[in-house]
Amino acid sequence: MNDLFKLCLHTITTKPLSFQEACQAYAKRGIRGITIWRDALEKLPTNDVREILKDNDLNLVSYCRGGFFAHTEEGKRKEAIADNKRIIEEAAEIEAPLIVLVCGAHPDQSPETSRKQIIEGIEEILPMAEYSDIKLAIEPLHPMYADDRSAINTLHQANTIAEQFNSDYLGVAIDVYHLWWDPDLKKEIYRCGKNNHLFAFHICDWLTPTKHLLLDRGLMGEGCIDIPQIREWVEDAGFDGFHEVEIFSERWWAEDQNAFLDKIVEAYKQHC
Ligand code: ZN
Repeated sequence: MNDLFKLCLHTITTKPLSFQEACQAYAKRGIRGITIWRDALEKLPTNDVREILKDNDLNLVSYCRGGFFAHTEEGKRKEAIADNKRIIEEAAEIEAPLIVLVCGAHPDQSPETSRKQIIEGIEEILPMAEYSDIKLAIEPLHPMYADDRSAINTLHQANTIAEQFNSDYLGVAIDVYHLWWDPDLKKEIYRCGKNNHLFAFHICDWLTPTKHLLLDRGLMGEGCIDIPQIREWVEDAGFDGFHEVEIFSERWWAEDQNAFLDKIVEAYKQHC
């Protein structure tokens, strides 16, 4: 049985709750970590955000999400870079130590071209992240998203880019949902850890059948991912940060969110 001191919730997991409701509901259950999704803040003043976190004794783990650098039009790529700079400013204001990057892809160009644009985008924003003391984590996405969400689909690719930059401020977010299938996962997790690039660990489960590409993730224990195994590799590789529950699920969002949170806590204790 896991205790809860490393449990972190992504606000998107309990999307129907307001930011304040979510913080209170997490704190009430002894959850200590939170990752804030940008739209959850609904333009709340920065001071209010910090105060709500403090009142509920929550550690801000990361801010989601930046990226989406790839586009066929140069103007759109420039817009993405400007938006990522705004995200760094917002993260600095709420004192988030890390921004997760969903790096982007475009169906009208090859993944190779998208990856080149992703590297150019990271090059543009990394100095500002370094200066702001905010880390950036490349999150490799499952290959089913290679058309329009991310051309970085394996931990191997994310590790290679992080190594190329060789900055203390650029690493990788490992999400079991995206990477569980990869035969090289163990090897690449150790490679990531060895280079001190393992910045974040996201958990949920893979359902069979998956009914929606984006909005049908499972609660831990509902699906086929061996989360304890991946967690063991991640911790063996030197990671000692939070275990972040990130579940996009129309099915779970339709349920009572307090009951869902109780189930998350139980699932974390039993299946992670
Ligand atoms: Zn994730």
